[in-house]
Amino acid sequence: MNISISPCPNCAVIARAEYSDDDIDIATFENFRNQTDCVTCQNVVEYFGPKNSWGNTIQGDDIVRMKYKRNGWYLQLEKGDLRRPLVRLPIVEKDKRGDKRRLALTPSRELEEQSNITGGRGEPTLLTESLDSSWIDMKQIGAWVDFCNKNHAGTCHSVTNPWWNFAPPEYLILIDVTRCCLVRGKPTNEYMALSYVWGTVEKPFQTVLENFEELCQDNAFNLPSNYARLPRTIRDSMAVTALLGHKYLWHKSKQLESMASIYANSYLTIIAADGDDDYGIHGIHLSQNPRTMPYRYFDFAPNRHAMTKDPIQYNNSRYHHRGWCFQEELISRRTLVFQNNSVSWYCKWVSWNENLSRPMKRQFSYLSGFLTNTSWPNLPLYTSVVFAYSFRQLTYPDDILNAFAAITATFSRSLIGGILHGLPEMSFDGMLLWQPGTCYPRRKDANGLILRKYPSWSCPFWVL
Ligand SMILES: [Zn+2]
Ligand SMILES: [Zn+2]
Repeated sequence: MNISISPCPNCAVIARAEYSDDDIDIATFENFRNQTDCVTCQNVVEYFGPKNSWGNTIQGDDIVRMKYKRNGWYLQLEKGDLRRPLVRLPIVEKDKRGDKRRLALTPSRELEEQSNITGGRGEPTLLTESLDSSWIDMKQIGAWVDFCNKNHAGTCHSVTNPWWNFAPPEYLILIDVTRCCLVRGKPTNEYMALSYVWGTVEKPFQTVLENFEELCQDNAFNLPSNYARLPRTIRDSMAVTALLGHKYLWHKSKQLESMASIYANSYLTIIAADGDDDYGIHGIHLSQNPRTMPYRYFDFAPNRHAMTKDPIQYNNSRYHHRGWCFQEELISRRTLVFQNNSVSWYCKWVSWNENLSRPMKRQFSYLSGFLTNTSWPNLPLYTSVVFAYSFRQLTYPDDILNAFAAITATFSRSLIGGILHGLPEMSFDGMLLWQPGTCYPRRKDANGLILRKYPSWSCPFWVL
């Protein structure tokens, strides 16, 4: 993407804001509107428009001001003399939770070369990368993988702690992305796993005993009859696997008993969080399916640009509401998440988004980083995971325990006696006293009837 540089007087002031110790009045809104030759000022005007101003009427004499708040610099529009902020555009945002940073001002090279990259008030400044608006940079993803490989051995990969580890699956049916066919995998094969929402493809491609040998022939997936039934998300994930220089991809097949082992041992898990199986992954070069850029650029000066995700793009993806996806994400040690036409990396220690040139440390939470088992029965962790899972939706409510089986398998190793219908047997009598936090209904079948074949005390069978 070519960034047009617009060094108009307003932009020049914004670009220098970090060096200032005081808030700065830049100009009136009218003045910004009049900078018709400046693409950035017009972007700012558009950003401050009705969509983001929550219905406030914006007038020409409203002031655009650089303001320093606790979390960094903001460009904000204020109501005339009242100094009432109408819209804020975070320029350098520092979020303690790490993952929520949205926008940053790129420091100049001289600043970057100084030992501590700090703003005028001692706050660290994030670096941003220029992004291609149509295609995701696979080399950048490769660098994330290399960084984790180099720095996180023993925790994100090549894990030896027996309580964190699962033996590799004994058998695997893998897609060989170079030969475009299925292969019988060996426990030593390095493979990527795929996690996505099953959806709309009619008679999607399934491996059954009768067609297995046929699908093991070279280029079997390129035969027109097979290709048409291969969901786009699988095709695009094959492209991602190949572009990252790998050969094997595992995608959901009926290996229920090995789910924990499969996801825990994947080299990384590709999470296609946009849409369902026929939406695909946009922005992958080989797939010829460009993305729509989710970012908005503000180019204040050379090497001083900022970008943000358009607020209307924020949404909870369908992926994160689906039951089966829960364990697939939680058990995976490293995930590459394609969401909102952008891509992010998550491993135990860092998260990384394509607009950042440095990784961000992950804050600890039970759902951040992969689910690590302990040698002692961690009941609080188990109940937190069950609680989070109980909000997930399933197309077939009967799947409720199967879609949780990998997590059950993980915890059963330290919860002596295992888990019966969601309750750990070692503290069964106490756990029977669990209560829903509020008035939750019980999970129902496709006809709207309560699933009576399961006991009423089984907590996963209750749902919001
Ligand atoms: Zn400008
Ligand atoms: Zn890592």
